[in-house]
Amino acid sequence: MQTVSVRFFPGLAKKMKNEKIYRDVFDHIKKAENIAIIFHRSPDGDCTGSAFAFYYALKKLKKRPVILSPEPLPFNCAFLDRGKVVRSAVGEGERFDLTIVLDLSEPKRIMRGIELPKRDIFGFVINIDHHITGSGVGDLIIQEPDAAATAEIVYRILKTNAIEIDREIAEAVYTAIITDTGGFRYSNTTSETFAIASELLNCGISSWEISREIYESEPKARILLLSKALSTLSFEKEDKIAYMKLTLDVIRNTGATDDMTDQFVNYARSIKGVEVGLLFREVSGGKVKVSIRSKDDIDVASFALRFGGGGHRNAAGIVLQENIDESVNKIISALKEYIK
Ligand code: 5GP
Ligand code: MN
Repeated sequence: MQTVSVRFFPGLAKKMKNEKIYRDVFDHIKKAENIAIIFHRSPDGDCTGSAFAFYYALKKLKKRPVILSPEPLPFNCAFLDRGKVVRSAVGEGERFDLTIVLDLSEPKRIMRGIELPKRDIFGFVINIDHHITGSGVGDLIIQEPDAAATAEIVYRILKTNAIEIDREIAEAVYTAIITDTGGFRYSNTTSETFAIASELLNCGISSWEISREIYESEPKARILLLSKALSTLSFEKEDKIAYMKLTLDVIRNTGATDDMTDQFVNYARSIKGVEVGLLFREVSGGKVKVSIRSKDDIDVASFALRFGGGGHRNAAGIVLQENIDESVNKIISALKEYIK
């Protein structure tokens, strides 16, 4: 079996809105039959929504798309998978002509179990992403850090190629946009975000029905876990830094699943006067996942890069191979220096 490393094309990275490239994407799609759609570890609303938008568009084109996710979809976005189409593994002998990689810009964020470097399985690889860090993964890379969500780029690609935006596609893109913008609140929200949202609502979807799935259907275990996280809230640097900790034991004892901690970090940032909020969360394999959120000009993507992480200016993450207390000490002391 031929195994070639995932290639990098840093020179192609950070291409801005470019209709020629959007059409190139469809040139590859037209030539393909079996198409895999994959996305990043710890999937969120953006990658899930982007995947379903592409899935339904490809179905319209009579292609055979497969969404592959060895990890479960985020609990509040699982409603998008009404047809239970998401598969957790590549089938025996299965081959794809094309793979579309969404909301991911570096090989280490590919989900465990997806061996993308096996080119004979995954074929030509197109990467569509909006992170500012990482140089992309694949043969054709579209990386637009100005997009509020990867789904905005997906939407532009579909529109450029005259795909009719039906309710299913609109619902998927809308889900992605509201989750990645925190309901149109974060600094990534632009007039274009609202313009796209307006077009989506004109496709017959209901903002409330989607918001109810995402924000008003909280599992009890998640709120119990939130209360545990909030009880660890600590402050540093004249209350400019606020952080919380969650151990695996606490997560397991509340009956919550790992994806349920998404957004907890925002409570730390939301406090008046706090400039950076963090959540330190134990994950399996003796690792700690650090979620970081900042206000205004504090660039936490650059900060995260120093520790092998990355993300966006105001929302970034790091994975450390250290215990939780060591991780807190290391990151908080570096952050105290960083924000000055
Ligand atoms: P979250 O804290 O919600 O997991 O992630 C916030 C942002 O940082 C997301 O855009 C995510 O893609 C990015 N991010 C999270 N963890 C990592 C990581 O370990 N490495 C990199 N490069 N980016 C991350
Ligand atoms: Mn995203």
